Amino acid sequence: MRVALISVGTELLMGQTVNTNVVYLSQQLNLLGFDVLYHHTVGDNPGRLREVIDLSRKDCDLILTTGGLGPTQDDLTKEIACEAFHDELVLHEPSMAALKEAFCKRHRHMTDNNLKQAYMPTRAVVFDNDQGTAPGFALEDHGDYIICIPGPPREMKAMYQRRVKPFLESMSEGMVYFRDVMTYGIGESQLETALLPLIDGQTDPTFATYAKEGESYLRITSKDKDPAAAKARVEAAIEQVKELVGEFIYSTDGGTLPETVGSLLLEKGLTISSAESCTGGMFASALIAIPGISTAFDRGLVTYSNRAKMEELGVQEVTLDTYGAVSEETAAEMAAGLYNVCGSDICVSVTGVAGPDGGSDEKPVGLAYIGLCFCGETEVFKVEPRNVSRAWNRNKSMLEMFWHVYERLQRMP
Ligand code: AMP
Ligand code: MG
Repeated sequence: MRVALISVGTELLMGQTVNTNVVYLSQQLNLLGFDVLYHHTVGDNPGRLREVIDLSRKDCDLILTTGGLGPTQDDLTKEIACEAFHDELVLHEPSMAALKEAFCKRHRHMTDNNLKQAYMPTRAVVFDNDQGTAPGFALEDHGDYIICIPGPPREMKAMYQRRVKPFLESMSEGMVYFRDVMTYGIGESQLETALLPLIDGQTDPTFATYAKEGESYLRITSKDKDPAAAKARVEAAIEQVKELVGEFIYSTDGGTLPETVGSLLLEKGLTISSAESCTGGMFASALIAIPGISTAFDRGLVTYSNRAKMEELGVQEVTLDTYGAVSEETAAEMAAGLYNVCGSDICVSVTGVAGPDGGSDEKPVGLAYIGLCFCGETEVFKVEPRNVSRAWNRNKSMLEMFWHVYERLQRMP
């Protein structure tokens, strides 16, 4: 099935409302194996809506609209869809009854314009709305379908899950199975190049690379009437990918780097603490976002000033004076000092130049050092500076902390 999504609402064109519906529906439809070919957005304008519907019908066999189903004058989607799909609106008794009940329950007076919502195309499959008043519907004409559902995201999602999805599943050509293979330390283009032997000429599974802030990942997708067959093909492909770029992979199920480190710590029964300068607690915060991490995570100190590094971690004044706050030596003393304070199995530290100011030739913006004290033994890693922005540099330093902890855990017997 070739699909066009049409978002209806002037507020979307004005930039007042972010079009989140289109993101949600595209993801959902792709999972069902539908090919979403177009996203159209149109204002509350009957002529242009009709044009977009007619245009979409030329190339697609399913049109899914959101918005414009409400009770007011500018809500016209149903009327236009009905006209374009050669049907007429008639009173739909079950919708009328539901509407009356909804108003009665909320002790609100039903104004006349609300009645409009109980009219449906004669051939429509009506989707009731358990989150609001406007029902949705599906309508067929010469093998083409139009499905119209409400705009408010809460109502749209509920109606999609309860009513539209089962309706679509019955006409789906196959289920999609995908897995996200997450990598660190390899750029998107480098990743694609390394995988060319797999990507070249493949139609199923498909491989798509994506760049995330400082990371890249690979989505492997397969489609089949038999979901188990799709899954098996993707899993076989993951093994081939591991052979090519295994050293960069930290998860094959879309798990983030912090999540992966968190699970490893819990699995191995290890404890961890952090002392952060330039990241200001981002490492600790990312770990604490993981449910159940309390058995592994002990403490996270934000030691931003030299004084804090000395008072909290016992970094020596002479170290700071001789090598500077952003140095291998300071990172090492921070990690070792943290270990003296808390005794966690893993004590990780970071100190870096976040920017935009404060860089020098010797210590450019973006440079950072990670200290890693593992059961009392300390190593230091350099973060190569690639100054994008303060936010990027800090995120990069945090990811490097997780990556080195991850690598160290991998090296454990
Ligand atoms: P409507 O069904 O056109 O009356 O839409 C009602 C409200 O739903 C709008 O005011 C928006 O806040 C929201 N809405 C409509 N379309 C979208 C969309 N595509 N994405 C996110 N929100 C939307
Ligand atoms: Mg609207």
